[in-house]
Amino acid sequence: MTAPGGIALHSALVWTLFALAPLTFIGLLRLKVPYGRHYSGRRWGPGLPDRVGWIVMELPAPIFFAWVYFAGPSAGGAVPLVFLGIWQCHYLNRTFIYPLRTRTRGKRMPAVVAVSGFAFNIVNAYINARWVSEIGRYDPQWLGDPRFLAGLSVFAAGFALNLHSDNTLLKLRKPGETGYSIPRGGGFRYVSCPNYLGEVMEWAGWALATWSLAGLAFFLFTAANLVPRALSHHRWYRERFEDYPPGRKAIIPGWI
Ligand code: NDP
Repeated sequence: MTAPGGIALHSALVWTLFALAPLTFIGLLRLKVPYGRHYSGRRWGPGLPDRVGWIVMELPAPIFFAWVYFAGPSAGGAVPLVFLGIWQCHYLNRTFIYPLRTRTRGKRMPAVVAVSGFAFNIVNAYINARWVSEIGRYDPQWLGDPRFLAGLSVFAAGFALNLHSDNTLLKLRKPGETGYSIPRGGGFRYVSCPNYLGEVMEWAGWALATWSLAGLAFFLFTAANLVPRALSHHRWYRERFEDYPPGRKAIIPGWI
């Protein structure tokens, strides 16, 4: 049995994310989140080494998710275990492997960005873990449901695109380099930020496979964060590289 107060908290947090998504989208069309190429020095307060910032920011996603998940009564169920596996596939890479592979020596991330990401990841891990191992009800037949199968396929395609695109970007620099060049091949033939497109697809797939408002809120928030950032990156490339491929879009092939 789920405590009624617990459901109210869960629901309030889910609706908070729904409310924040459009505000975030509008805000980020004007403001570039100041990390990576858009880092603007100490204007945003003290900074952390870039890798430390990434690990701190992402830490609640695998750890707090697992903690909330294993406290749920359905933690041993077949479907919740599949969801746990999907989530951890993404977040173990993003938190512990990806940051150690970046070539950002000497670069910094404002502490305020790491702290905001940390806070978001606490809320997001909570609403999604609680849903899959406690509030949501999944019997084993869900594994054959078209919504689960379609969602899993979209997640897998997004995961592959995100990993491949991250790898392409990370290989552009030789050890010790921190400059920028034009990425080519794979999803970069069509868009400037296939890594972000892959990420948005992953969480669209998650929302579909879990068939949950928690998943939908996460997907919308991710799109609200990454679509404006892709537009900023795209403009940045066009301003800096005269030979930037003219047909390439920002994040959606042939459209945006
Ligand atoms: P970027 O594409 O800005 O950068 C990725 C890495 O590649 C950085 O180390 C960057 O260095 C380097 N890089 C990027 N472009 C070039 C280039 N043209 N030449 C050389 N090196 C380059 O992605 P983010 O850092 O914003 O995001 C990293 C990952 O995290 C992505 O997969 C993204 O999807 C995910 N993410 C998910 C979010 C979510 O809401 N779920 C939010 C933010 C990110 P540098 O840092 O020096 O620019």
